[in-house]
Amino acid sequence: MTETAYDTDNIFAKILRGEIPSQRVYEDEAVVVFMDVMPQGPGHTLVVPKASSRNLLDADPSTFGPLFTVVQKVARAVRKAFDADGVTVMQFNEPASGQTVYHLHVHVIPRFDSIPLKPHTGAMENPEVLARNADKIRAALGS
Ligand code: 5GP
Repeated sequence: MTETAYDTDNIFAKILRGEIPSQRVYEDEAVVVFMDVMPQGPGHTLVVPKASSRNLLDADPSTFGPLFTVVQKVARAVRKAFDADGVTVMQFNEPASGQTVYHLHVHVIPRFDSIPLKPHTGAMENPEVLARNADKIRAALGS
């Protein structure tokens, strides 16, 4: 087992610093939420703490209260926005688990009866579709 340090130039760190664009749907003092560019289903969002850690394993425990408060808020909002039957919440730690971006984040994905998830990091979504879905989630968060 090897410990790898947090890389301040990972893609989500760049998104958090505003160096790379994203479809943001929510932000507070501790957490940012934006659309996944390779969604596993319509409305796939990523809930990302501003505090730096590779994943759950090296995170400060104080990260989780604010993070999961927003995960619940977003799960309720995507369920409403897409009239979903359920919501999958996923989080990966290190490459063996499937993690591909090394800044802690939680996937929130609306689910529909009998419809499987698309592959993890599969196809890039059309930016206009992402923008429309982001609008729906913002509206559900605001209501
Ligand atoms: P992980 O595999 O680390 O759990 O999830 C990383 C997620 O980030 C994947 O679902 C992938 O589609 C998404 N992703 C990768 N690069 C970007 C990007 O540049 N912008 C956004 N918004 N999502 C990304």
